[in-house]
Amino acid sequence: AKAACDSIKKERSRAYCIFSEHLRQELEIRSYVISHIDEAVENGYIEIYYQPVVRTLTGKLAGMEALARWRDPVYGFLRPDQFIPVLEEERLIDKLDRYVIRECGRQLRRQIDAHRPIVPISFNVSRMDFQLMDVLSEIEAVVRENELPRDYLRIEITETAMVQDSDKILKMIDRFRGNGYSVWLDDFGSGYSSLNVLKDYHFDELKIDMEFLRAFNDTSRKIITSVVMMAKAIGIHTLAEGVETREQVRFLRSIGCEKIQGYHYGRPMPYDELLVHCQERHLRAETREEARIYEK
Ligand code: C2E
Ligand code: MG
Ligand code: MG
Ligand code: MG
Repeated sequence: AKAACDSIKKERSRAYCIFSEHLRQELEIRSYVISHIDEAVENGYIEIYYQPVVRTLTGKLAGMEALARWRDPVYGFLRPDQFIPVLEEERLIDKLDRYVIRECGRQLRRQIDAHRPIVPISFNVSRMDFQLMDVLSEIEAVVRENELPRDYLRIEITETAMVQDSDKILKMIDRFRGNGYSVWLDDFGSGYSSLNVLKDYHFDELKIDMEFLRAFNDTSRKIITSVVMMAKAIGIHTLAEGVETREQVRFLRSIGCEKIQGYHYGRPMPYDELLVHCQERHLRAETREEARIYEK
């Protein structure tokens, strides 16, 4: 019994060591991120990866989501959950997002100059961004500098963003839309206020949170079906996130979910890789005329 007891004690203290080591490293990365965000943006440690979004009905590429990556010379590859929440809490997220928006604009300009079919880009905006910068002016400047049509850029706002400053955000969304930008509600169903958000805010598209697909049982399928029906009834487009299997694609097609994003069609990757990936997978970009038909 004594031996067993000792071994438990040893086990515990080791677990504690591992835990505190993990915590220490997390805190270290946290303070590193805070003090190096400017440098990371200036020196190009921030890269934008793009994940394909596919039109369910046609199987064509209907867009791509810009997702930030931090490739650090000291820490290597940092995951978004290692830097996005820190930057939000420290009110530094605008430094990243200004850069991301600029890069998206440049990326669209490169596509136009290369005479490729333009693949619209959606990018993520944090609640905190609205306190730190004039998001609309930032986007407008990028559109002007690159001479872009406005419908190539789409704004994603997460559901949890609606909790605070709701009046301000409501006005912002209407201003975006009034200026010709489409605004998407990201991570729908992940927050506590989903239905209120749909009632009060005017979104163009709803991204159903991937949590619902993860389970993919009878209940979650019924919930997804109802969400798609409800969105259709009130005139909002639908996109399912986190789609990984053919079975999920088949289901989403059968219930009329309009767009699909997930590892099944491709992970987020650098733009040049995405080009090759789409070629190999015969994922062709939909034309502007096609997009107009579906996005009315
Ligand atoms: P999000 O906007 O909901 O982006 C979708 C996340 O799901 C991405 O994680 C993507 O890599 C991941 N994902 C896509 N398909 C699948 C799938 O089939 N299976 C699984 N398991 N995951 C999938 P990522 O890139 O790690 O980004 C996490 C979150 O960080 C994003 O969630 C977004 O809220 C935030 N984020 C990323 N880039 C930016 C940015 O530039 N600015 C801001 N403000 N937030 C960003
Ligand atoms: Mg998003
Ligand atoms: Mg999402
Ligand atoms: Mg998310």
